Amino acid sequence: MRIMVTGRNGQVGWELRRALAPLGEVVAFDRHEADLSKPETLASVIASVQPQVIVNAAAYTAVDKAEEEEGLAHRINADAVGVIAEAARKQHALLVHYSTDYVFDGASKNPYREDDPIAPLNAYGRTKLAGERAIEATGGDWLTLRTTWVFGLRGRNFLRTIMRIARERDTLRVVADQIGAPTSARMISDLTAHVVAHAQRERREGKFEPGVFNMTAAGETSWHGFADAIVATARELQGDVIKAAVVEPITSDAYPTPARRPQYSILDNEKFDRRFGLARMDWRQGLALTIDDLAAQ
Ligand code: NDP
Repeated sequence: MRIMVTGRNGQVGWELRRALAPLGEVVAFDRHEADLSKPETLASVIASVQPQVIVNAAAYTAVDKAEEEEGLAHRINADAVGVIAEAARKQHALLVHYSTDYVFDGASKNPYREDDPIAPLNAYGRTKLAGERAIEATGGDWLTLRTTWVFGLRGRNFLRTIMRIARERDTLRVVADQIGAPTSARMISDLTAHVVAHAQRERREGKFEPGVFNMTAAGETSWHGFADAIVATARELQGDVIKAAVVEPITSDAYPTPARRPQYSILDNEKFDRRFGLARMDWRQGLALTIDDLAAQ
């Protein structure tokens, strides 16, 4: 089986190269080799690879910057996704794509199910929703996996930012009124590999159904709770370099950002669990494993 991956240097893309390797030949592209800001170039790239599976891990993910660059974000997160979906359909390839809780407004008090009403609060959420719709409109064999609060060993992410500033400052002030499930990039890619294997079996047996699935870590916390856990674990592992003694909770109002964010980002994973029968780690377990890896580096 040949699997094409986009966004090979992203948090998830980088992990996918390892996780997908046991399934077959992984052909992974960076933004120069498969540039989603130039959707018109993608069909020929995909035709040259002739993949049986495409995993689209490339995305415009700069949530605040997207407020100013919605056109570019839309090209990458929606127009290009439509082109990839069409190429996948034509070549009878399975398309696995990622989306986000930011398609919801976060006003709910209960975990969001896949078909709950969507209402993105920001430009990034609108472009990701448009990407979901482009895939649905194209048809073929596709799976869209919605995830949340991704962190990992690489790239810009909350874990790495907190680890850095915990060495520089005595007190960290972190938003405590946004709730989510921090999900490790490594768990996302490991689950994705199992999902691909499962879906390919279903396709061979003529039992495959396309669909949107929530796929996040188990458990929930706030950004403040996440930061507190990061600092506590980092202190255990690297006590001598950690300066931060206090992680102070603040409200979102005290930390204004260009893009509004949902206050409640918990997704109900029941549909994913039922279809794929996989265990999703609690966010604390994912954090401990990731920090172990960082410490080993
Ligand atoms: P990253 O930002 O870590 O990686 C995105 C990748 O996309 C990078 O490798 C980047 O390239 C690449 N990329 C950006 N622009 C282009 C382009 N024009 N053409 C080709 N590639 C491009 O994202 P994640 O790994 O965290 O995200 C994976 C998926 O999960 C995405 O679909 C994202 O929307 C979704 N998601 C992410 C969340 C998060 O908290 N990060 C939360 C919920 C969903 P380069 O390395 O060169 O910058």
